Amino acid sequence: MIGPGRAIGILGGGQLGRMLAQAAQSLGYRVHVYTPSEASPAGAVADRESVAAYDDLAALGEFARSVDVVTYEFENIPAEPLEAIAKLVELHPSPAVLRTCQNRRREKAWLSENDFPHAAYAEALEGDILAAAAEVGLPCVVKTADFGYDGKGQMRIATAEDLVRASAIFRGRRCVVEQWVDFERELSVICARTRSGETRPFPASENLHSEHILDISIVPARVPHAVEEAARTLAVQVADRLGVVGLLAVEMFLARDGRLLVNELAPRPHNSGHWSIDAGETSQFEQHVRAVCGLPLGPAGARNPAVMVNILGDAWTRRPGGPDWAAVLSEPRAKLHLYGKPEPRPGRKMGHFTVQGPDLEDTLSLAREIKARL
Ligand code: AMP
Repeated sequence: MIGPGRAIGILGGGQLGRMLAQAAQSLGYRVHVYTPSEASPAGAVADRESVAAYDDLAALGEFARSVDVVTYEFENIPAEPLEAIAKLVELHPSPAVLRTCQNRRREKAWLSENDFPHAAYAEALEGDILAAAAEVGLPCVVKTADFGYDGKGQMRIATAEDLVRASAIFRGRRCVVEQWVDFERELSVICARTRSGETRPFPASENLHSEHILDISIVPARVPHAVEEAARTLAVQVADRLGVVGLLAVEMFLARDGRLLVNELAPRPHNSGHWSIDAGETSQFEQHVRAVCGLPLGPAGARNPAVMVNILGDAWTRRPGGPDWAAVLSEPRAKLHLYGKPEPRPGRKMGHFTVQGPDLEDTLSLAREIKARL
């Protein structure tokens, strides 16, 4: 066990790293953040910060030797430097887990090999979208294999014209072409897993997206109990098979025919788990710290139905001078979290708020009202 008072290293300086650092510090850990960018949200709250590139082996080595365990908040870290770090210090989740999850092609192949349900897909190695789309059929969605997030590097294809455009856009890039899923709901389950293999899933979150970016998470998901159970069981099975130590977020589609299909895996805290800071028995960030440090896991239930709303940079474009924070702060059932990012840009996650209350539909209405007034 790496107990309180020891030092945790976090690779990545974004909001996930910031909230992870805050949770670690609440448990008495010292936090060293490693990030390639100056003025990062996580760096601002860390006990120590290193600003250097992810392939700077000397800086990484020094970082690794300064802490007792390393984790990451960001998937697009090259796996090779991580492997170098893992030789110097405990690193969770393992570089092998990250390698599988950071590339859509490997992730899909892994899901297939392990018989986990997912949308039909075909690989387009040299960006040969035409052949791959012919294999899966229209409508479909093209996704670049590496370095995609929040809908970046993807395009929906419904018509022959879309196909021609996509072929030009993705030419020469490694992609997967996936069948478009006619889904009823999008769900995610975040599951913690310890070194000894104990697993503990959070309740399923129902996720509403806007322009491919998470907009609202609703907990509990508005699905029948049996679907919730099946989603949680699936997430536990995936986390076990991968051998994750830490958190694994499993994004899924609930298809109209009732099937649950795994869309994406993220071996880290996840945007759809932010509700747990205010409404969870244990926050996802604390749970990640517990898992990677070998502490006992906390209870993972929701104390109340909760709705989390992301605040994007767009809110500043709509209202010059910025959002009206009083809209959130004057509501006793709402909690505001801002990430300290200096520059609001469209699509950029600047913060979130969570509303909780005994009745889910009422809580959702209130969250939508606050969002409109913000
Ligand atoms: P991703 O980056 O894979 O998480 O995709 C971002 C969002 O695009 C998802 O949350 C869905 O709303 C949508 N999406 C992605 N893949 C599909 C698919 N195969 N069928 C339907 N919607 C999809």
